[in-house]
Amino acid sequence: MVYAPVRPDRSLPPVLVNLFSDTQTRPSTAMKDAMMRAEVGDEQNGDDPGVNALCDRMAALTGKEAAVFLPTGTMCNQISLLVHTRRGDEILAHESSHIVGNEGGAPGALAGAVVLGLRGARGMFDSATMTAALREKRRNAPPQTLVAVEQTTNAGGGAVWPLALLNDVLGSAHRLGMKTHMDGARLMNAAVAAGVTAAAFSQHCDSVWLDFTKGLGAPVGAVLCGSAAFIDQAWRWKQRLGGSMRQAGICAAACLYALDHNVDRLAEDHANASALAAGLAGVPGLAVEEPETNLVFFDTRASGLTADTLAARVRQQGLSVSTVGIYRVRACTHLDVDADGVEAAVQIIAGAVRGA
Ligand SMILES: *Cc1c(COP(=O)(O)O)cnc(C)c1O
Repeated sequence: MVYAPVRPDRSLPPVLVNLFSDTQTRPSTAMKDAMMRAEVGDEQNGDDPGVNALCDRMAALTGKEAAVFLPTGTMCNQISLLVHTRRGDEILAHESSHIVGNEGGAPGALAGAVVLGLRGARGMFDSATMTAALREKRRNAPPQTLVAVEQTTNAGGGAVWPLALLNDVLGSAHRLGMKTHMDGARLMNAAVAAGVTAAAFSQHCDSVWLDFTKGLGAPVGAVLCGSAAFIDQAWRWKQRLGGSMRQAGICAAACLYALDHNVDRLAEDHANASALAAGLAGVPGLAVEEPETNLVFFDTRASGLTADTLAARVRQQGLSVSTVGIYRVRACTHLDVDADGVEAAVQIIAGAVRGA
């Protein structure tokens, strides 16, 4: 079995509408101009002005004392687990979460922790579910030391944890003596969709991070935030894992540009996702999940097509979507897709299903 990324198949037509992922956005000309003008220093040495400005802004945005710039969101998650847990600890997280299924088994490989997958609709769980998963404190039970949530939930459907539910779960976790972590890959999508500030969503999080390579449209980077003591320890792991950088201000400039220009416009992505879901709801054979943000999931079972077959057919028509499971397709809106693209996507998918 070969697990390397598959190179693009040159026999396929060009992608005209890319709903595969918001990670595939290209930096705009204006963003690249900002990168060109970046003043840079040595990030590892703490004197890159752009990185420092970005970290200050992110700490303020999330209401935390400090922040650290990292190359990827995965590294933000894993460094957080490394700081919060010890080998043999158990982490409570939704069974569909990114740390469970999409990080190469890193909680076990790096922190040496195990993850107990909790169930619940839309990638979320309530404090009753969490409490039911608690173990008696015995010498032969793993210490349960961390609760991790995703805002928005990715495989859970791009859902937004309502503030009251989030506060209840994370507040309970704290009262039970556990630490709390938020995978905020799409935290600003949640903030824009719910009209709740990132700081409010982060209030009961000991660590929280934001990805700049999703809907915010930057080419590289994520920022992890927390207390000064937490960030101090995070820096040690950043160094150990090879995540310390040099003239990273070039990348930070893109992230600062994204904070200034690409946050409010996430509402357009959400409107496009709603339009896409409404259009697909009219296609017989598809069961569409109601989107809350920029991720649209639909089930193909009743159409007689598997997700992979549908994805291959629409790809022949220049539309790229991703699949998660045998019958589940994900279509993701972002700043490189407009209303016309959404309209075209509905037509292409409807045509592929009719041809079934
Ligand atoms: C994309 C994503 C990550 C990982 O981020 P990278 O920057 O791609 O490493 C983690 N969690 C969630 C929920 C994501 O969507």
